[in-house]
Amino acid sequence: MNEPSAPRHFASKVLAVADECAAVKTFKLSVPDDFSFLPGMWVMINFPDQPKVTRAYSMSSSPLQKGSIEISLNKVGDFTVRMFALKSGDEIQLAGPYGKWRYRDEDRRAVLISGGSGLTPFRSMGRYVLDRKIPNKLSILYSARTPADILYAKDLEIFKSAGIKVHVTITRGEGQSWNGPAGRLSMETVRKEVERWDEAAYYLCGPKTMVSEFTAALESAGIARERIHYEKWGDY
Ligand SMILES: Cc1cc2nc3c(=O)[nH]c(=O)nc-3n(C[C@H](O)[C@H](O)[C@H](O)COP(=O)(O)OP(=O)(O)OC[C@H]3O[C@@H](n4cnc5c(N)ncnc54)[C@H](O)[C@@H]3O)c2cc1C
Repeated sequence: MNEPSAPRHFASKVLAVADECAAVKTFKLSVPDDFSFLPGMWVMINFPDQPKVTRAYSMSSSPLQKGSIEISLNKVGDFTVRMFALKSGDEIQLAGPYGKWRYRDEDRRAVLISGGSGLTPFRSMGRYVLDRKIPNKLSILYSARTPADILYAKDLEIFKSAGIKVHVTITRGEGQSWNGPAGRLSMETVRKEVERWDEAAYYLCGPKTMVSEFTAALESAGIARERIHYEKWGDY
C-alpha cells in the first residue's frame, strides 16, 4: 500500500457535483497528482473568503483514483448550505490528508458499521479493496433513515456482486417501497449477518453516540479493544 502524502494546503477546483440521494451531494474535487491517502483519511475544507471556518470530510473515493477525490455531505448547517451552492469550476481550499483511522490490509476480516453519512469512508474502503483485488472479507452494516436516504446505492450493488456482504437497515419509513430489514443496527445484527463475526476487526464511523454505544456492545460481546477502530464525527 502507498504511504499517504504529507498534509499540505492547496487550492482545489470543483470538477463535478452529483445528487447522491435525498439530502446528500457528492463533490469531485481536484487534487495535485502526487496527493495520496489511505481509505479512512479526511481533508479540511474552507472557502477562500473565510479561511478560519473549516470542516472535515472523509474521502469517499478510491485512493487509486489520481488527480481528484470525492467527498459526500449532508446539508445540515451554514457551511454545508454553502457547499451545496458550489458548481463545477468553483474554487475552494483543501488541507490534508489527515487521520490515523485507516483501513488496514492485515485485517483479513473486517466489519464496517455506520449510520447516515458515516458511510462515506466505507465507500473508499470497499472501492480500495476491490481496486487492489485484496482477498480480504468485508461486511458493511449500514443504517439509513428512510429508503430515500440510502447512500451509494449503485456502489453497494457493485460491492455485493463482488462478494462484499452488505446489510442495509431502515430506521424510519418502513413499508414505503422497502421490504428489507428495519430498525437500528445492534449486536444481534452483527451475530446474524456476519460469518465468523468474533474473528473480525471492526471499523465504526458516524455520530458519537452510535460509535460509543456500538464500541461498548462489541467489547461486551468479547471483541478485544484493539480490534475496534472508530472515527467519531460529532453529536447529532
Ligand atoms: C474526521 C471527520 C470526517 C467527517 N466526514 C464527513 C463526511 O464525509 N460527510 C459529512 O457529511 N460530514 C462529515 N463530517 C462532519 C462535518 O465535518 C461537519 O461537521 C458537517 O458537515 C456539518 O457542518 P455544518 O457547519 O454545515 O453544520 P453545523 O452547524 O456544524 O451542524 C448543524 C447540525 O447538524 C448536525 N450534523 C453535523 N454533521 C451531520 C451529519 N453528517 N449528518 C446529520 N447531522 C449532522 C450537527 O450536530 C448540528 O446539530 C466529518 C467530521 C469529522 C470530524
